Amino acid sequence: MQEGEKMEPASDPNLSVPPRGGRRASQLYLFSLPTEGEKSEEVREVIPQVWKGVSEKEWNDWRWQLRHRITTLERLKEIIDLTPEEIEGIKHSKGRLALAVTPYFASLMDPVNPNCPIRRQAIPRIEEIHLSKNEMVDPLGEDKHSPVPGLVHRYPDRVLLLVTDQCAVYCRYCTRRRLVGSSERSITQGNFEEVLKYLKSHRKVRDVLLSGGDPLLLENERLEEMLSRLRAIPHIELLRIGTRVPVTLPQRITGGLVRMLKKYHPLMISIHFTHPKEITDQVKRACSDLADGGIPLGSQTVLLKGINDKPYIMKKLVQELLKIRVRPYYIYQCDLAMGTEHFRTSVATGIQIMEKLRGHTTGYAVPTYVVDTPGGGGKIPLQPDYVVSKGRGKIVLRNYEGKVFEYPEPNIIEFKKTRSTVEEKAVPKKVMA
Ligand code: SF4
Repeated sequence: MQEGEKMEPASDPNLSVPPRGGRRASQLYLFSLPTEGEKSEEVREVIPQVWKGVSEKEWNDWRWQLRHRITTLERLKEIIDLTPEEIEGIKHSKGRLALAVTPYFASLMDPVNPNCPIRRQAIPRIEEIHLSKNEMVDPLGEDKHSPVPGLVHRYPDRVLLLVTDQCAVYCRYCTRRRLVGSSERSITQGNFEEVLKYLKSHRKVRDVLLSGGDPLLLENERLEEMLSRLRAIPHIELLRIGTRVPVTLPQRITGGLVRMLKKYHPLMISIHFTHPKEITDQVKRACSDLADGGIPLGSQTVLLKGINDKPYIMKKLVQELLKIRVRPYYIYQCDLAMGTEHFRTSVATGIQIMEKLRGHTTGYAVPTYVVDTPGGGGKIPLQPDYVVSKGRGKIVLRNYEGKVFEYPEPNIIEFKKTRSTVEEKAVPKKVMA
C-alpha cells in the first residue's frame, strides 16, 4: 500500500459533516432542518448545546459570530475535550499566532477526536513551538517586495493588497502569521491613499488581489470605498478577493454584501477551502449567493499533513467544490512559515495526489499544484511526468491508467512543401526565399 492510501474512504468518519454540537449524544435541535424544496437562503442552523440560549437571529449574525469567537483555553474546554498537546499549544500561542475560532467553525469540530481536520486547522498544538532550520518569518519574501505599506508588488502586472490583519479564524499553518491577528485592524486611510497613488503611477498593474487577513471582515461601506476607488483607476482591469470567510463565517455572505460586490465586476473571489467537512449547508448557501451574483469562484487549498494529504480526501473536496460552483484553482505546497513543520508533506505526496486526480475525475475539478517558492520566486506548477521519452519525430506519453501512446511530431519537410504550394499563388517569390 502506498503513502496516502492507508485508510479506505468508507472508514474515514471525517468525510461527512457530523451532527453538530458540543456532544453528539446530547444534540439540541432548536430549529428545523431545511427540506429539499426550500431555497438556499432558508437554510436553518442547528445550534449546538454549548450555545444554548443563543437565538437563531444571533447565530446567523456575522457580527455576533465575530464578537463571540473562542479565544481562550477555558472557553474551548467547554466545547471540546482538549488533549495535553492542544492545551500546551494554546498556552504557548500567546505572542505567536492568536487563537480565535468562530462559534460556527467550532461547532464543526469533533469534540472527542483530536485528529478532526477542523480541530487540527484551528487549535494550536505544542508542535508549533518547535522551529525547523528551514522556516522563515516571511516565507514568500513579501516584505522585500512591498513598495508601500500594505502593498506587495512581486509580478509586473498584478499586486497584492493587504487590507486588514484580521481573520475570522486563525489557521495554524498561516503563511502570514507574522502579520495576521497582531492588531486586528484594517489598513489605515493614509496607507490606502499611498497605495492608490502608487497604483495610479504604475500603469502596468492591471490586477489587484485584496487579501490580508480577510477582506470580507471589513464592513460593506469600507470595502466598497476600496473597491470603487480601485475600480476608478483606468488601467486596473481586474479586482480579486482572497478570503476564507465563506468557510469559517458563512453568515457574512449577506444579500447586501453580494449586491455591493457585483457593482465592481469583473471581480473574482478565491476561497480558501481545506477539507470536505467544511462544505456545510451554510457554506453551500454562501457560495451559491456569491455565484448567483455573477462572481467567478475558485478555491485555494494548502496541502496539510494529517488533514487533506490523502488522494481520496482531495478528490472528495474538489468534487464537492464543483457541486457548489467553486472551481478548484490551486493546491499549495505548505509554505515554510515558522512553527508549521508538522503540517508539511513531501512534494512527492502532492504529485501523487495530482496523479490520482487527473483523468480520474472531471477536468474542471483538477486544480494546479504549486510550490510558492521560498524567498519570493513565485508559484511553480508541479505535476506527474507523463512523458515517457522523446525521440526523433515522436514523443512517447503515458495516460492516467499507465498505458503508453506515441504522438508523432509534425513532419517539418512536408509542412514546408504544403506551405509553399499554397503561398506561391499569393506571396511574391522574393518574400518566400
Ligand atoms: S484565513 Fe488566510 S490569512 Fe487568515 S489565518 Fe487563515 S491562512 Fe492566514
